[in-house]
Amino acid sequence: IIDVLVGYLLVGERREQAIAFALDVTERKQVERQKDEFLGVVSHELRTPVTSLKVFVQTVQKRLKKSGDDENAELLGKMGAQIDRLARLIAELIDITKLETGKLQLSALQFDLSSLIDEVIEEMQRTTTHHSIRKEGILSISAWGDRDRIGQVLINLLSNAIKYSPLADSICVKMEADSEQVTVSVQDFGLGIPQEQQEQIFQRFYRVEEKDRETISGLGLGLYIAAEIIKRHGGKIWFKSTPGEGSTFFFSLPLQRYPSLMEEMEGA
Ligand code: ADP
Repeated sequence: IIDVLVGYLLVGERREQAIAFALDVTERKQVERQKDEFLGVVSHELRTPVTSLKVFVQTVQKRLKKSGDDENAELLGKMGAQIDRLARLIAELIDITKLETGKLQLSALQFDLSSLIDEVIEEMQRTTTHHSIRKEGILSISAWGDRDRIGQVLINLLSNAIKYSPLADSICVKMEADSEQVTVSVQDFGLGIPQEQQEQIFQRFYRVEEKDRETISGLGLGLYIAAEIIKRHGGKIWFKSTPGEGSTFFFSLPLQRYPSLMEEMEGA
């Protein structure tokens, strides 16, 4: 609106151009907003049936196990894993709309980062049969932040390490700290990231286009969301990768309570 008003203050041909441009920008912003709202509504609507589907599948799986029908119980287990994947994709879409509309709220509490890492490793280990995830580094440290959201960053990094190392079996999570910050790394020995695409991988919806990963699915949102969460904790996220050898993703978190995290929480 301000752009349109400025356009009216100009004279002659430039005025016409400025107004046309400003209206175009306003219209585009409106379309963007409508798209975000649409995505938000659709993803929320999808979440409910997927959640109940998971409960039904788990119930039937338990019954089958009880009656000794292991074969069908295993089949339902696989169905459950696919429902989890669907739920994660929907959660990514919900998060993206929250990020775009400034509605992603973070709470700030002190929590034991080490036990969070243990929990996530246990959860992710259950999703893969041919990878072994091990933990190295310091034993216990507490950090400030939103425990669930930091857990989500770890899940994203570990699920990528699993997804993009189809032929390797080892994944290593490491935790190191100095007096100011703690750094967590997730190392895999998989496909790696082509040099010329390394700059783009944190962008929204960006996916590496290579023959070797055509069959690996995803929306290209995991790293973007992880980076936003870490940034809003006052931390950093980065990686090192050699194509054909593997990748290590790092994130650091300040050990002190990050001021804007609290402001966000209080203002939310
Ligand atoms: P998605 O996995 O859904 O495509 P992400 O945002 O998590 O989206 O990752 C973006 C891209 O970065 C992926 O398409 C993938 O090619 C590449 N990538 C991410 N993590 C790794 C990894 N550990 N090893 C190799 N490539 C990776």
